Amino acid sequence: MTTNPKYIFVTGGVSSSLGKGIIAASLAKLLQSQGYRITIQKLDPYINIDPGTLNPYEHGECYVTDDGAETDLDLGHYERFLNVATSQANNVTTGRIYQSVIDKERRGEFLGKTVQVIPHITDEIKRRIQILGNSGDYDIVITEIGGTVGDIESLPYIEAVRQLEWDLGEHNTCVIHLTLVPFLSAAGELKTKPTQHSVKTLMESGVQADILVCRTEHKLNDGLKTKLARFCNVKKEAVIESIDASTIYDVPNLMLEEGLDKVVLKQLQLKSDVPDLKRWNQFLKRHKNPKSEVSIGLIGKYVELQDSYKSILEAFIHAGAENEVKVIVEPIHSEYLSESNIEFKLGHLDGVLVAPGFGERGIEGKIDAVRFVREHNIPFLGICLGMQMAVIEYARNVLNIKDANSIELDDQTPNPVINLMESQKNVVNKGGTMRLGTWDCQLEKDSIAYDVYQSEMITERHRHRFEFNNAYKTQFENAGLKATGFNPKTKLVEIVEIPENNWFVGVQYHPEYKSTVRNPHPLFVAFVAAALKYRKKKN
Ligand code: GLN
Repeated sequence: MTTNPKYIFVTGGVSSSLGKGIIAASLAKLLQSQGYRITIQKLDPYINIDPGTLNPYEHGECYVTDDGAETDLDLGHYERFLNVATSQANNVTTGRIYQSVIDKERRGEFLGKTVQVIPHITDEIKRRIQILGNSGDYDIVITEIGGTVGDIESLPYIEAVRQLEWDLGEHNTCVIHLTLVPFLSAAGELKTKPTQHSVKTLMESGVQADILVCRTEHKLNDGLKTKLARFCNVKKEAVIESIDASTIYDVPNLMLEEGLDKVVLKQLQLKSDVPDLKRWNQFLKRHKNPKSEVSIGLIGKYVELQDSYKSILEAFIHAGAENEVKVIVEPIHSEYLSESNIEFKLGHLDGVLVAPGFGERGIEGKIDAVRFVREHNIPFLGICLGMQMAVIEYARNVLNIKDANSIELDDQTPNPVINLMESQKNVVNKGGTMRLGTWDCQLEKDSIAYDVYQSEMITERHRHRFEFNNAYKTQFENAGLKATGFNPKTKLVEIVEIPENNWFVGVQYHPEYKSTVRNPHPLFVAFVAAALKYRKKKN
């Protein structure tokens, strides 16, 4: 298609959390549906090297890519919308930028020069932005700049955008500015001034927005669009309304109605076509017209914050649409679960998912929950820590090894049924050192897993340090908990099942990261189907 890649920059003003990631993903969907090869990159202006060491309360879920990068959760949206895998190059933080520059300085590569924000940090930002474009794999790269214009920490990024616009020349770049048009109920009016100020702040750094995407709770009338266009110096057609939507999956269609793809392509002097959203819209139709519903408990310790389990919640939306069922996810805080309230909290559910996690808090609640669902034969999916809890519960209550535990929770336990991986024993640093990214998994033929995947060899993404202890494998298998998936090289156990139960599956990996609108994850699809079957039998 095009020879030189084009670059779209998405900046944000007025407020944080306006949904730049969803706008970027929706625009990308519209461009991809017109035949363009597209990828999205997120630049995060914080000093952490990656979000891997961040508590989910700080920044939501940490998303993991095939190549094992621990990244911002927006990359999950990009993959779910585009069905194209992302990589380390798709998420860069200020910490990583500085680390490369400082490493280069230590190697003496600046040849005695003073190393400064401009040009050395900005050059490194520009290089990182162009890595994806220069790969030859994409016609268009969308770069989402985290934070809000005017923040001190965003300045080098905005300067890099200014320089790239200059370097690459007219019609090769496009700047989208996402802002908020608040409604003042006392005045009964939508207000444009915050947007005007935000565009002006961007201008102070030498960047003129080409397109405004205005988040709003009410429709922007013609007069208001004209006013915004005039005072913000953009074409009227480039004032795009982004009204609150009931689901993020509506946003591509809303942007299409507003003509966002058209103005972008015009600015980039690229051909515009009617996007082929047939499959997308089939998904939306199923998502919005469920024939029945199921209630699934999501047991975790960060449940107060929706973003903590973003990929799991989205995987349920995909799997629900596939099954034409509405999945009602009930967040249940594991810290407040105990034997005395478990029947009340879990008894009515059609399925239970025990979430991934780290550390001791809320652990016993998770173990009690597994016991309850195992004994009541409620469909169960345990992910990562959730799978490990299922193993501990089985050891304690079926194998009668009362002190069975994970080394993570008690490093002195005489019965470490969950052990520290051999490869982890000498690891000291916390950041980026877990077993990460894609690993092979071989499935036993006679298993739920094999039925679900219909394949003997699968690959899934990982993020953990601890593992099923193979020293106990025979004991578990003799009692009825089977290992049905394992790494073909290391023999690390990847999946456990209880064949005697209806649907009881624990996986050491994270299936949720690979679920997309186009390819709902088969494990989630099967889990929701099992919950539906269980509900029908119950009623
Ligand atoms: N804390 C566990 C481990 O490191 C599980 C990690 C997870 O749930 N992602 O092995």
